Amino acid sequence: MDKIKMTTPLVEMDGDEMTRILWQMIKDELLLPYIDLKTEYYDLGLVHRNETDDRVTIDSAEATKKYGVAVKCATITPNAARVKEYDLKEMWKSPNGTIRAALDGTVFRAPILIKGIKPYVHNWSKPITIARHAYGDIYKNVEIKVPGAGKAELVFTGKDGKQIRETIHEFTGSGIIQGIHNTDKSITSFAKACFNYALDTKQDLWFATKDTISKKYDHDFKDIFQEVYDTQYKEKFEAAGITYFYTLIDDAVARVIRSEGGFIWACKNYDGDVMSDMVATAYGDLSMMTSVLVSPDGVYEYEAAHGTVQRHYYKYLNGEETSTNSIATIFAWTGALRKRGELDGIDALVAFADRLERACIKTVEDGKMTKSLSLISTCKDPVILNSLEFIQAIRATFDAL
Ligand code: NAP
Ligand code: MG
Repeated sequence: MDKIKMTTPLVEMDGDEMTRILWQMIKDELLLPYIDLKTEYYDLGLVHRNETDDRVTIDSAEATKKYGVAVKCATITPNAARVKEYDLKEMWKSPNGTIRAALDGTVFRAPILIKGIKPYVHNWSKPITIARHAYGDIYKNVEIKVPGAGKAELVFTGKDGKQIRETIHEFTGSGIIQGIHNTDKSITSFAKACFNYALDTKQDLWFATKDTISKKYDHDFKDIFQEVYDTQYKEKFEAAGITYFYTLIDDAVARVIRSEGGFIWACKNYDGDVMSDMVATAYGDLSMMTSVLVSPDGVYEYEAAHGTVQRHYYKYLNGEETSTNSIATIFAWTGALRKRGELDGIDALVAFADRLERACIKTVEDGKMTKSLSLISTCKDPVILNSLEFIQAIRATFDAL
């Protein structure tokens, strides 16, 4: 079989620890034999981030803006222990945070469903994608611990010096206050990213806030979504046969549980933080969760939702056998390759991505899996494979499809 040719490079962001090992295995076994792989390579491994004073992360984000599609390996976000372990010049920022800030994106997370791994919610037969707004609200809050009696006020001073003032509370004793904000620009970007992603994946979009209680703050989110929808997306949604649906957050939670899945649930920052953990857990396993960052102007960065699987890496370094699940990382590659194929009109690349995803799913459904999957699978006699054997089993399935 001739190798599939690419025209535009993918931005390839290599990473750390066990996922870096899987990264190379995936390329060697599943990609390079079939594709004339064209990538612009950025090494986001912590050693190289430290060598370049983290310049490489910014460069990789710039390249993503230039080419439009990136695939990223999991990376270490340094903490004090990592600064010591890697002898770092400083505690470099989270690469995901840096890339997200550069692309102004929204993160979409969706589970990969496989027969034999049952969601805890029995009627969820299709994936639920959580779209989390990643700016503002309590993540950029200001708080005061009120020491005793007094008056708390909310004051805005305009550029012209004019003030808007509201009393928060007349305290008669000690208490707490919190100030949070968001910007119309960020909310608009969030809305556009959600509408674009819904069109792209042909799924309905749900959005929910607490606008009945928060009549200005949450209501602003509701109004911006509605206005962006009415002015820019309504016709496109109707043509695609999908719907935009707004409801209250508590109503949304009840409906999500009763649903069969198969839609995108746009969440404000805190709701998205909490609900994405709930949804991921309910579908079974973090190592089966995909993640893509989409910018409002249509730039895509694909990755696995899990981290670098540090514990497995130390076993690997000790020469012990590992059984690490590479499916979410493979799906990061297939997501990026499919998108590249769509943008460049390379049908063979799109077909390759579809076939490789089917091969991953079929391999597990045929009873060949990694240890963590075997623990939650209903398969009677699963064959537990090590990290490399699992990737090779996927290759054998792929070749036989
Ligand atoms: P983690 O790498 O997601 O791993 C946590 C545990 O989940 C593992 O120890 C393993 O459990 C299980 N697990 C996760 N992925 C798995 C897979 N593919 N196959 C099998 N088991 C899997 O999270 P962490 O240990 O908290 O973080 C490690 C590093 O990753 C940290 O330095 C963190 O900064 C980084 N991180 C990066 C990203 C990212 O780049 N997107 C995201 C999160 C964390 P068992 O050990 O019980 O088998
Ligand atoms: Mg969380």
